[in-house]
Amino acid sequence: MPQRVYNFNPGPATLPLEVLEEAQKELLDYAGTGMSVMEISHRSKEFDAIITEAQTLVKELLGLGDSHKVLFLQGGASTQFFMVPMNFLPAGATADYIITGSFAQKAYKEAVKIGDVHIAASSKETNYDRIVDPDEIKLSDSPAYVHITSNNTIYGTQWKAFPDFGDVPLVADMSSDIMSYPFDADKFALIYAGAQKNLGPAGVTLVIVRNDMLEKVPESLPSMLRYDILAEKNSLYNTPPTFSIYMTSLVLKWIKKNGGLAAMQKRNEEKAALLYEAVDRSEGFYKGHAQKESRSLMNVTFRLSSEELEKKFIQEAAAKGLVGVKGHRSVGGIRASIYNAMSKEGCAALAQFMDDFRKANG
Ligand SMILES: *Cc1c(COP(=O)(O)O)cnc(C)c1O
Repeated sequence: MPQRVYNFNPGPATLPLEVLEEAQKELLDYAGTGMSVMEISHRSKEFDAIITEAQTLVKELLGLGDSHKVLFLQGGASTQFFMVPMNFLPAGATADYIITGSFAQKAYKEAVKIGDVHIAASSKETNYDRIVDPDEIKLSDSPAYVHITSNNTIYGTQWKAFPDFGDVPLVADMSSDIMSYPFDADKFALIYAGAQKNLGPAGVTLVIVRNDMLEKVPESLPSMLRYDILAEKNSLYNTPPTFSIYMTSLVLKWIKKNGGLAAMQKRNEEKAALLYEAVDRSEGFYKGHAQKESRSLMNVTFRLSSEELEKKFIQEAAAKGLVGVKGHRSVGGIRASIYNAMSKEGCAALAQFMDDFRKANG
């Protein structure tokens, strides 16, 4: 048996062991083809079954019907930063952005290159330590859409309830918390998520787009950037990242088998509580970055009293098989990413280490 560590990396991130084992088992001969998934045609009946199952599972887990299309695209969530405005921000219109972290800021910066953009709210002033309150949000007159980031991977904050702007299309970057709790997906005009946090390996981006949005796509765009063409071709306009889509389908099956999104949420709440309780009982030894009501269930961020002590924490944690807890360079400190695939045992082990480290260094 290979030695597996508890992997708290922010993305690419840990995957369910059962999924990796299943992929290993099927690697040399997928479904009796005598070939691996990487070697079969994206137009074969075997791959058609894989992508169809992945699309069906996305809809089933999110409770979506025929109102939305499920796409598997390339270029990461970062490509969606400019694809969304290229498709949905025509000349003369304004798109509104709510900026709650680095990726939200990046999405905004890309949109500025495409058209008129308005910042409807931001928590930058307090170094993105919180989600904005609904009454802070000041929309422009008639926005083409409103863009939010459901979970701020770097700062460790997460929306607890999504805003409702009536008929204004709501677009969300859900890269770091998609499929980690049930929510009303029907309300969204478009959701996108890079797979490498909660869905599978890097290389594929899930996009869920409402049918009526597809009618707004300008014909002048290059085909590979047109949601309507990508939807019409069922994500097979060109060769898609077949292996990443296959892995994503296995992860989606794993989520379903383990009780779906309600069960994921319960487990994620229990996992996050283990770590936040270790922060809260430390009496300031660990200082959480996020304000309590905005705390993320996916990325737990905190600092210690000095960078030296943080370095020691990271080194000693790694020596105990708790890897990837270094914070993002823009925030520093510690970040434990505890997506769906991180076990409760992993979080308990990290919480225990936090207590032990505090007692030895406090
Ligand atoms: C990781 C991440 C991104 C960037 O994803 P890429 O697939 O690397 O482009 C964007 N948004 C959020 C919220 C993320 O967590």
